[in-house]
Amino acid sequence: MFWRKKRTFEEKKKFKLVLRREDSLFLLSQARALHPKEFISLLRGKVKKDENIVYVSEVIVPPLATYGHGFSTYNPYLMPIIADIVGTAHSHPSGARLPSFEDLRNFIGYALLIVCYPYESSEDIYAYDSRGRNVEMEIS
Ligand SMILES: [Zn+2]
Repeated sequence: MFWRKKRTFEEKKKFKLVLRREDSLFLLSQARALHPKEFISLLRGKVKKDENIVYVSEVIVPPLATYGHGFSTYNPYLMPIIADIVGTAHSHPSGARLPSFEDLRNFIGYALLIVCYPYESSEDIYAYDSRGRNVEMEIS
């Protein structure tokens, strides 16, 4: 009998993240507007497991988000129940590209987007999976 261990989507090595151009521009403008504070937002979308693609369809700015220097939080109890959250995005005013230990500890969904100073173009947006590995990103 042929037996194969079932793997979850998260355990798989690589997936691709597809972000709409308007959403990438929104993330950059939010990061610029709040600089030097951090901003945070949630990414809504859908996952095509057979193609290993995560599509972001909407960027949601959480209500009553607290923006600070070196941190940004939101109250999860104030969030509407949204089942299709595929990840989060936040800015790094320091320009650091890599996710911090805290970023990975607070990981939600499939992908983490880091919007790095100087927030000039989609080249300043980096995508990571829950293990902090770089994820291929396509701006559509
Ligand atoms: Zn961070």
